[in-house]
Amino acid sequence: MITTEDKLFLETPIEQYLISAEKVAHVQIGNNAEHALLVLTKTGYSAIPVLDAQFKLQGLLGIGMITDAILGLERIEYERLSDLKVDDIMNVDIPRVYTTDRFQKGLDLLVNHTFLCVVEEDGTFAGILTRRVMLKEFKKYIYQPR
Ligand code: AMP
Repeated sequence: MITTEDKLFLETPIEQYLISAEKVAHVQIGNNAEHALLVLTKTGYSAIPVLDAQFKLQGLLGIGMITDAILGLERIEYERLSDLKVDDIMNVDIPRVYTTDRFQKGLDLLVNHTFLCVVEEDGTFAGILTRRVMLKEFKKYIYQPR
């Protein structure tokens, strides 16, 4: 049974669990796939946000999307990396989460995503919410002495 205390916890704004934008690796619209692959490989992240020049969230880019885009019939066509733009291969169909949304929304969405991109009301990228951080917070809450 969910108590009033649980409800209050589930209603905490997700803003307080964010990895803030300045700490998040990203690529920009117009960057080529070679640059994106370099960033993804160097950071070791499976996917990173794609932002525009105004720091607005445009999509997500993962290594798999890049490999898929340069997959030829018989080989991987690495020479195409420099001509491909991240805009053409990124995933734009991603959940939009706002800084004012509640912990519960994050929890529900993180079942199917390892992290979520979070934006301000005007679409400016605010940071990410990771499954790891949310699970840690959830664990802290569940195990706290009452
Ligand atoms: P983690 O919870 O650290 O395993 O992160 C899960 C995923 O979230 C990573 O594979 C990345 O796609 C993304 N991520 C986590 N931290 C960052 C960061 N600082 N910059 C960019 N992406 C990140």
